[in-house]
Amino acid sequence: MSRRKIVAGNWKMNMTPTEAVKLIDTLKPLVASDDVDVVFCVPAIDIIPAVEAVKGTNIAIGAENLYFEDKGAFTGEISADMLLDAGVKYVIIGHSERREYFAETDETVNKKVLKAIEKGLTPIVCCGETLTQREQGITIDWIRQQMKIAFLNVSAADAAKCVIAYEPIWAIGTGKTATSDQAEEVCKAIRDLMREIYDDATAEAIRIQYGGSVNGGNAAELFAKPDIDGGLVGGASLKEEFGDIIAGSTCC
Ligand code: PEP
Repeated sequence: MSRRKIVAGNWKMNMTPTEAVKLIDTLKPLVASDDVDVVFCVPAIDIIPAVEAVKGTNIAIGAENLYFEDKGAFTGEISADMLLDAGVKYVIIGHSERREYFAETDETVNKKVLKAIEKGLTPIVCCGETLTQREQGITIDWIRQQMKIAFLNVSAADAAKCVIAYEPIWAIGTGKTATSDQAEEVCKAIRDLMREIYDDATAEAIRIQYGGSVNGGNAAELFAKPDIDGGLVGGASLKEEFGDIIAGSTCC
């Protein structure tokens, strides 16, 4: 089955609202494509101007996080309803930076995935191993555990609509990319796990991205792998190079 590729930029804590609109204006023509889903996941304060700036283009706006409660005394948090009302379509959940710096756990990731699905947002569910885990040969076990918990109580029909991002932590923001074979091995293992938890149709439908120092030079080779359906891109999504990454995802 051929899955539509999806390439998402993760802006992290970069770009003021004014800068965000300028960057979108620059990138708009470079990422125009009928063949790929293009998503800009932007800081919360940039969401409203970003949604306005992408009107009439192929770009969807995503958030970088949400909270799993609907409303109430959770100072500083943002709910799924707030994101939806602002025009957000996607939300990154469980990025390794949130796990490392903000005490995100597999359990909170699961709660957030369930809330995003309940409200109709598409979660981009992140997983990834440390360099130590890779060197110890436990990468696949680790990823399976993260994904099993993330998808607890998610139905097959809902899982099929989710996006998973495999992001080896040692490759994020380091300039060290996993080889296309390393990335494919783990993305295939994730798809096999989805087949185990659900069924063939769900496993074949779910889109699995690779993330970790994707750039204009390596995107085409990575995205050509059978189980890699696009990328989650940090640093390079803030540059004109993001256009080359989108072009790389349409080559095969
Ligand atoms: C990320 O933040 O999800 C990421 C993959 O970053 P980078 O592309 O900069 O490695």
